[in-house]
Amino acid sequence: MGAVDNALLLSARSRVLADLAARRLATPAAVSALEDACSTRRWWAEQWPEGEVYVAGLVAQDVQDVLFETLRRWPLCLRCEDLPEHALFIHPDLGGPHPVWVCEETGQSVADLGRL
Ligand SMILES: [Zn+2]
Repeated sequence: MGAVDNALLLSARSRVLADLAARRLATPAAVSALEDACSTRRWWAEQWPEGEVYVAGLVAQDVQDVLFETLRRWPLCLRCEDLPEHALFIHPDLGGPHPVWVCEETGQSVADLGRL
């Protein structure tokens, strides 16, 4: 069991934080959910080092789940003006290796993770 590269977790953290901030949701509760997700996924990647490429997307999904249960959908799709409120999802569902936000209604890519 090797130590997981710190840069990997820092990168995942900063990408998700940027997307929270992009939607004005970088609140203490959301950041705390992000910290929890990072420590869970650090443990996870230590058990399965080949899973490193999935970490950033998985952290985003973890935070998304917590926010959905406690606050609201994040991130909302801002592209489909004619449709009821809906969210973006990480594609691929596994979390990587190149996580992008995809509209749940149209299936179109909206932004890379960290670029909302
Ligand atoms: Zn949409």
